[in-house]
Amino acid sequence: MTIPFIDLATQQSNIKTQIDDAIQRVLAHGKYIMGPEVQELEERLAEYVGVSHCISCSSGTDSLLIAMMALGIGTGDEVITVPYTWISTAEMIALLGAKPVFVDIDESSLNMDPQRLTDAITPRTRAIMPVGIYGQTANMTEINRIAAKHGIPVIEDAAQSFGATHCGRKSCALSTVGSTSFFPSKPLGCYGDGGALFTNDDELNERMKQIRVHGQMKKHHHPILGINGRLDTLQAAILLEKLKIFDSEIEMRNQIADRYSNGLSASNAIVPPVVQSNDTSVWAQYTILTEDRNALKNALAERGVPSVSYYALPLHLQPVFAHLGYKRGDFPNAEYVADHCLSLPMSPYLEAKAQCHVIDSIMAAADTMLTS
Ligand SMILES: *Cc1c(COP(=O)(O)O)cnc(C)c1O
Repeated sequence: MTIPFIDLATQQSNIKTQIDDAIQRVLAHGKYIMGPEVQELEERLAEYVGVSHCISCSSGTDSLLIAMMALGIGTGDEVITVPYTWISTAEMIALLGAKPVFVDIDESSLNMDPQRLTDAITPRTRAIMPVGIYGQTANMTEINRIAAKHGIPVIEDAAQSFGATHCGRKSCALSTVGSTSFFPSKPLGCYGDGGALFTNDDELNERMKQIRVHGQMKKHHHPILGINGRLDTLQAAILLEKLKIFDSEIEMRNQIADRYSNGLSASNAIVPPVVQSNDTSVWAQYTILTEDRNALKNALAERGVPSVSYYALPLHLQPVFAHLGYKRGDFPNAEYVADHCLSLPMSPYLEAKAQCHVIDSIMAAADTMLTS
């Protein structure tokens, strides 16, 4: 049995006609850049998230860059984020000449621990950038409360949590700006690179739109610096089709996550992921913690089960950030999770039989790990 880690093929075959037609419509009108599908997608996404503005863009990395440029972040500024995330989050802060300031994660949600946030705020803090890792948002209520007290904007990196909810509101609608990614393997993915920004702030919306097209206000008039940050019309057309089935896919992801959690609950060697009260997850990943992660990973590989240890070297220990002066021991929760996490095969179309094989393989390996 070969089990895909993320199954994109089944979804494609299910909606192949719709995708093909959508692509053909773009080829027929030929408006490859900022064609009508781009605006239509932005309207649908803004409606889906429940905010006034959506700005589609070229990736979930560029979206973070655009958001921070719009907020005027640059040299000498500090932006607070977490060390346990994909590199983009801190990378874009540093690219603007600002300093990433890390706050440890909470060991249950694996997201920014709001209790550690206040201590990281200084007079130079210009933004707080929590991440919704593995599909559920950070405790945005608490983070927003602390940010508001200090008058600091909050950018939610929702590249993995798009579609999730916190206190009944959708991820990307929870703060000053929400940012997401449509990288193919994300919960809502396109067939290339893509991303989007969300805000209720009219002025920020205008500035982010302008930055997306080289800071251009009207043709050949550039009052501010920008980038080439547009989403391709083809990708927008593909996303419009995928968005139609997104909610039913989230339901399927939740059923699969429940099956994992039930199946693995009998093992003392496995700590399953925990969805926080007030939250729902889109299960970008189903990530367990286990003492001997590498032994489990190898045992699974022997049985044809792929697994991935994401962010095994947390950002504060990455060579590129050595100049920040952090050392091992600074963020014990992030380091523990980096050393002990294992993400299992997850997609809405993971078949019951394949999932049973994954669960059986884990249980068999876990037994020998405990007794060895
Ligand atoms: C994927 C991801 C990004 C970057 O998105 P791209 O579209 O690949 O640029 C940023 N932050 C997090 C947390 C991610 O998972």
